[in-house]
Amino acid sequence: MIKLSYTDKVSIKVILLAIVSVLAIPYYFIAGGTLLGFIIIRLVGTAFSALGTIGHHRWLSHHSFVPHTLGRYLMWTGLVIYGIGKPLHLVIAHRLHHAHCDTALDPHSPNHHSWMNLWLGRFSTSSGVRYPKDFYRNKEAVFVNNHYWKLYAAFNIVLALIDLKTALVFCPVIFTWSWILTTVINYNGHVHNNTVTPTNLNFLISIITFGEGLHKNHHNDQTNRSFAGKNQFDLGAVVVEKILMAKAPLK
Ligand SMILES: [Zn+2]
Ligand SMILES: [Zn+2]
Repeated sequence: MIKLSYTDKVSIKVILLAIVSVLAIPYYFIAGGTLLGFIIIRLVGTAFSALGTIGHHRWLSHHSFVPHTLGRYLMWTGLVIYGIGKPLHLVIAHRLHHAHCDTALDPHSPNHHSWMNLWLGRFSTSSGVRYPKDFYRNKEAVFVNNHYWKLYAAFNIVLALIDLKTALVFCPVIFTWSWILTTVINYNGHVHNNTVTPTNLNFLISIITFGEGLHKNHHNDQTNRSFAGKNQFDLGAVVVEKILMAKAPLK
């Protein structure tokens, strides 16, 4: 029997969800979906992927703010619906990225990977960050981590039983679209004028990635919940401050 590596499984997930997404959009309309319905589904999906990204990045990886209970549950829901993967994997990979930025120990540097390789999730596996004690102290994080794919499957099965055409354009399209943007951040957020170093992306990318495109700023000040520099706008920081945050962390 063929034994697939973790990386192979990620690549298969990326390709399968991309195929489902491409087929699901025309199917949604053939099966009677309306344009308004599609737009609402995409807006809700975009909101949940943004919550998931803020959850694993600004909250779990960097602890740049302390969320209130509703904020935590919004981010857990976003993380599960997004389908990006187990939160512990995300936290470890992201801390490796900051600790060993653009070296051989960086899981996803353009110095060592093509754009396509990063899109396929074929990251380098390495070690070199501290055991994430903070993650294991968070009982909710451990629960979501241990049951991640069961929660993802349960959500999708329930949604499919309610309305198949909506289920097919919800989670698969959320992942496919958001993963393209994540790849843009991981690759283009480090390549600029033929050099590989953290760089800010343009205003449009910064808006549609909820601030993640302000990547150089974030590398320069990792624990700041806002990635905006002078005269810049970070939509993600607005979501954190207006919707998710109970207080700033103790320095
Ligand atoms: Zn980076
Ligand atoms: Zn970061």
